[in-house]
Amino acid sequence: MTGDRFARHALIPGWDQQRLAEATVVLVGAGALGNTVAQTLALAGVGRLVVCDPDTVAVSNLSRCPLFRAADAGRPKARVLAGALADLAPGTVVDARTAPHVSGAGLAELREADLVVSALDSRAARISLAGRCTLAGTGMLDGGTHAWGGEVSWYPPGGRCRACGLGPAERAVQDDPWSCAAPDPAAEVGASAPVSALVGAWLADFAVRLLLGLSVPEAPLRVDAAGFAVPLSGAPPRDRPDPDCPLHERLPAEVPVLPLDHEATVADLLDHMDVHEEPLAWAGFSRPVRRRAAVRAVTSRLRSAPASARLSALGVAPREVLPVARRDGSGLRYVELAAAPAEPGGRQGDLTEARRATTEGVL
Ligand SMILES: [Zn+2]
Repeated sequence: MTGDRFARHALIPGWDQQRLAEATVVLVGAGALGNTVAQTLALAGVGRLVVCDPDTVAVSNLSRCPLFRAADAGRPKARVLAGALADLAPGTVVDARTAPHVSGAGLAELREADLVVSALDSRAARISLAGRCTLAGTGMLDGGTHAWGGEVSWYPPGGRCRACGLGPAERAVQDDPWSCAAPDPAAEVGASAPVSALVGAWLADFAVRLLLGLSVPEAPLRVDAAGFAVPLSGAPPRDRPDPDCPLHERLPAEVPVLPLDHEATVADLLDHMDVHEEPLAWAGFSRPVRRRAAVRAVTSRLRSAPASARLSALGVAPREVLPVARRDGSGLRYVELAAAPAEPGGRQGDLTEARRATTEGVL
């Protein structure tokens, strides 16, 4: 086969194929919106996608997810999506992370990504991702749907985040997404292929425009399946964070990189700490309570884990930046985990173990 796959792109004013080829997008959520976004970004020629989703394909996904097939039921969504894109758009490298975003993509990866796209189905997960994007200093493009429409919002680096304007009670809400494989009927809402495709296309369009350095609307875009899409009126300026929002910490400009990756053990990590330092995980993990092994407590203190436990099994993401507290309360520093050696085919290892650890941590 000869010819240039992207020949028609070259005719579009403002298009820069090389810029897209060099771009990395972290996509959080491989459901209906995530399918459309991943498919469109890969077709457009985005060079690398890091796709995080802990869930598996359910039969009920097949009506809205163009990259899933009936034979994929029960398989991890992120891996199925990566496999489909390898065929559809082989020029795009897809790193599938079968874990929630907090265990799937480390802060150093978010910091170096050109864009983070949120295609999540829960407010709590969006707020959690917003906090990590703010720490990393990377913009977050967020999409969501309802029965006959949806919304697409751009949160630029240093500007408002998904949690700005929310009260403490709204920020604290725990509405963790239900698993498609084990649906909670109380959490199910209506969803359809046309609406997912419509909102997903807006999300992908904004993503490409942002990667190309082109403008997107100042205010969140309200998409209505009855026939219009308009920026919301009266939205506060997106470049001014809410002063009461607690999610606007930034990582220091310089973070030391340790000579170990997320497959190292807790003992390996502690070799780089002094006795007064307490390295913390961003995702809570469960540990047995002393003398009553049947009772487990959730903690983020890595010294509480077995010394032989791998950081990945405790929910620590690849290239994570870990906070390190001083036991005397005298301050906090950060350390960055090195990149793991690349696996053949550019795919990351299975993070099912990490997912289990973080899921246990939530329960
Ligand atoms: Zn905020």
